[in-house]
Amino acid sequence: MKQFNLTYENDEKFLKKLEEIKQWYESNTAYTMVFRIYSMDMEKSHIAHICDLLDKNVPDALYLGCTTNGNIMDGAFIESEIMLTCTIFEDESTKVKLLQYPFTDDNYKDAVDNLKKNIEENPWVTSVEMHAGILGMSMQGYCDEMSTLREDIQIFGGGAFAPNLDSSVSYVFSKGNDITQHGIIFLMLGGENFHVYSTYLDGWKPLKRRFRITKADKAVLHELDGIPAFEVYRRYLNIEKNDNFFSNTLEFPLFLEQKGVNILRCPFTANDDNSLTMSSDMEEDAYVRIAYGDPDQILNSIREDGQKVADFQPEVIEAFTCSARRAFWGDFNVSKETVMFKDVATTTGLYTSGEFLRINGNLFNLNVTLVIVAMREGDPVGEKIDFLGPSFNKLDKIPMIWRFVSFIEASTAELEAMNQKLSLAAITDGLTRLYNRAEIERRIHKALEKIEDEPGNDKVHLIMLDIDNFKKVNDVYGHKEGDDVIIALSDILRQTAADIPNASAGRWGGEEFMLLLEGNNTDEAMAAAEKIREAFAAVDFKISGQHTASVGVTQVITGEAADKMCSRVDNALYMAKEAGKNRVVWLDS
Ligand code: GH3
Ligand code: MG
Ligand code: MG
Repeated sequence: MKQFNLTYENDEKFLKKLEEIKQWYESNTAYTMVFRIYSMDMEKSHIAHICDLLDKNVPDALYLGCTTNGNIMDGAFIESEIMLTCTIFEDESTKVKLLQYPFTDDNYKDAVDNLKKNIEENPWVTSVEMHAGILGMSMQGYCDEMSTLREDIQIFGGGAFAPNLDSSVSYVFSKGNDITQHGIIFLMLGGENFHVYSTYLDGWKPLKRRFRITKADKAVLHELDGIPAFEVYRRYLNIEKNDNFFSNTLEFPLFLEQKGVNILRCPFTANDDNSLTMSSDMEEDAYVRIAYGDPDQILNSIREDGQKVADFQPEVIEAFTCSARRAFWGDFNVSKETVMFKDVATTTGLYTSGEFLRINGNLFNLNVTLVIVAMREGDPVGEKIDFLGPSFNKLDKIPMIWRFVSFIEASTAELEAMNQKLSLAAITDGLTRLYNRAEIERRIHKALEKIEDEPGNDKVHLIMLDIDNFKKVNDVYGHKEGDDVIIALSDILRQTAADIPNASAGRWGGEEFMLLLEGNNTDEAMAAAEKIREAFAAVDFKISGQHTASVGVTQVITGEAADKMCSRVDNALYMAKEAGKNRVVWLDS
């Protein structure tokens, strides 16, 4: 595999370079030649002219291309508006085939069906490179369809774009086809000696605080945690709706997990209704976190993953990188994150409107990432090299932003822990650590509401307990001993509730308790009541000896209010007292 990279400045220079390539091709054992044309020049006639020159001068070569937000040659962003790569496959078994189809929200399925048919007819296909006009489209359906491609096929590529980030127009084109705004190009690649290693890097780190997507429609994100999405950016990051909105939010895209893969989504625009138009589809009920880009950290993460690319020992590297990264770094610095790859293999690429990569079987429309596709024909040649990323080991100072993030994360964790404690305290009885009266009442109400929606379900029981002759314990042995007796019965109740699924134990008042059972039959409820009574009666207190409790049990009558059920179990308890205490009484109506 051999690759020539060239730019178009004028016909003369370009044709001279083409001639060199042709000569190399003819004097070496080479089988297929594929040109990729990446153009920041949006003028269709200029693109058509390049295509024309290729048709005339290298008629056997295939070519495909798209308009871009920027081009990468020798691992670095280049100013030249039109860049070409010419990949020459030197192994006889390597095959390529080019397809181009219309591509809109309505007909993407046809494109995928056609691709599938071609893959069936050409079983040698192992990879599909795609270039598509995706601006304004929803990609979820397309990605889902593509995920049904034969499992072992790698898919990667990018969305066409334009130099202007606000542009809604981009073009794709290929040999024998139109230059079109709504099209998709598939380059099928394969053969027994053709190998591809692909990976994606981002480097953006999510903060801990999570938000739930409470309202979204395709790429329009309406609400996070019930708050208009723009308000979240204003409140937490002090980002306003102005011309700088996109460049400000770029540093803080949303991080989410989709099918086990970490992805980022950028807010492109803040709308009048305070919704945000995102770089790709958002799914309701998913959780997102605000992520932050920190240059040092990004470069460090690239260094780690870059070694894996180097270990693959590729001959050619293609980079599909998000135009957001170019905007984030600025043209002067953006090459820092790709330039190291050129020491591994010739590295070219483009800034896209969205990167595509199949990960664990699923095709993802990624944003803010750098998708690296490393290719090789045959076995690796030569020694593996060290991937020389920028070294930060020399720095004994952690950048200030890390310190701030660490501070925020630690404070957030403390607040969350405190919140949890407070919420628990609000529903817990201080002495017994059982649920308090309000909470057990709330649970009884909820249990009855729940079974109203489940016809035939009457498996709700209440067990109410009151310690017998308790005043005497206080009077004779003191309040402290009284407390200990209350705590001992509470412990038995807590253990009982822990052993029965969906049981809740609460302190109803002084030395009265309530156990709510959801999902048990009456025999089980009676058995639980009897067991508690026996267990308590068996406790021998060092100071005051043994004590007993009386117990009432009842079952819900379908449709009744919580008050009625509570007063019936109270009656059952009263009957137990009347009948001589230390017993369980059942009352069904
Ligand atoms: P009975 O067998 O009929 O239930 O008689 P009893 O003596 O237990 O009567 P009652 O249930 O009315 O007594 C409740 C007593 O519980 C009154 C109150 O002083 C005491 N008490 C309520 N809360 C606490 C507490 O938190 N600690 C202690 N030590 N005593 C409490
Ligand atoms: Mg009482
Ligand atoms: Mg009592």
